[in-house]
Amino acid sequence: MAKYNDAKCRLCRREGTKLFLKGDRCFSEKCAVEKRPFAPGQHGRNRKKMSDYATQLREKQKVRRVYGVLEKQFRGYFVDADMAKGVTGTNLLSYLERRLDNVVYRLGFAHSRAQARQLVRHGIFTLNGHKVTIPSLLVKIGDSVEIPEANRSIAIFGDAEGAVARRGCPAWLEVDTNAFKGVVKALPQRDDIQFPINEHLIVELYSK
Ligand code: SF4
Repeated sequence: MAKYNDAKCRLCRREGTKLFLKGDRCFSEKCAVEKRPFAPGQHGRNRKKMSDYATQLREKQKVRRVYGVLEKQFRGYFVDADMAKGVTGTNLLSYLERRLDNVVYRLGFAHSRAQARQLVRHGIFTLNGHKVTIPSLLVKIGDSVEIPEANRSIAIFGDAEGAVARRGCPAWLEVDTNAFKGVVKALPQRDDIQFPINEHLIVELYSK
């Protein structure tokens, strides 16, 4: 699968906000958005007022980058969200939240979604007792994500409790860091997503 290999902090600076792509560094004073709060490149400091289209496009790019999803797959989520019952924008965010790599990150088992994706691909986790290697898999109510005993010595998992304390675990998930396990209690609701997102701008963009 194709992936973005350029410097992650440039993405945050381009969007003008923290996207939390680098784990603990994002919570430190080394964060590039805090040190250089302007877009990268020669003209980064001279940003002009954006058109409606540019605003919508930037919002879509921001959300795509937060969840680490490429354009084709992101549009696929939008098509599914549009066809599903309910509000399209909320459905879209719900699909993104339900991705297995996001769930692993939310449970505190990885420092970033990119790391979560890598760990899932390496088959470190089980879903309902079965090994999984597909980061884009969507979890359902009652699913249980677990780190099997043989993989529990991996250093990152030692700090799962600290990660949950720092970032918080959303109400739709329940984590038991001692048992290296998380359970999906409900489907994510709009209020569960604290990151500032104007999803209606994405819906407007794709509805043109
Ligand atoms: Fe973004 Fe994190 Fe880099 Fe800050 S440290 S610019 S939040 S990736």
